[in-house]
Amino acid sequence: MKIGILAVQGAFSEQELILEKLHVPFQEIRCEKDLQEDFDGLILPGGESTVQGKLLKELNLFHPLLNMIQNDVPVLATCAGMILLSEKIDGQESPYFKTIPMNVKRNAYGRQLGSFHITSEYKNLGRVPMTFIRAPYVINTGHGVSILSQTGQQITAVQYRRQTALAFHPELDKYLHIHRNFLEMCSRA
Ligand code: GLN
Repeated sequence: MKIGILAVQGAFSEQELILEKLHVPFQEIRCEKDLQEDFDGLILPGGESTVQGKLLKELNLFHPLLNMIQNDVPVLATCAGMILLSEKIDGQESPYFKTIPMNVKRNAYGRQLGSFHITSEYKNLGRVPMTFIRAPYVINTGHGVSILSQTGQQITAVQYRRQTALAFHPELDKYLHIHRNFLEMCSRA
């Protein structure tokens, strides 16, 4: 098993620490030649979606990664990664991969709530620690998207086909179960 981690910007090293803890081999994806081998799963880390989106295009990573996702390689996306997958981004004209039928709002919790930590219910996992950093939330979802977590009125985690998208950062809490579930999906796929 080998997981590809997008490593052009943002919190990719925190994702790597989690995979090291779980003894899972990974490869950083920084340029086209990093895509020569096949991956069993893909991690899209948090960071700044606008910067990541721009770099994906400049580095010619956008289309190969889109192909991988459309071919149903399991994806775990956190925060900026969730934004990259969304079909629509509130107030923004050009979305990125558009592989999950949903609409997200960026920096959705306002300035005062820029970053916060809670524990909240997550489907089949019970209460999960959740750290939000200038996070998005999901305004609405389309056909086939299942909601994994909701805090108050806001949807904060979804599953669509083999894509898991989270508004929060389990890697910052060293919380392993969401990654474990993702890796299980990778080994079944
Ligand atoms: N605010 C960032 C964005 O809009 C996401 C923040 C994060 O990934 N922690 O892309």
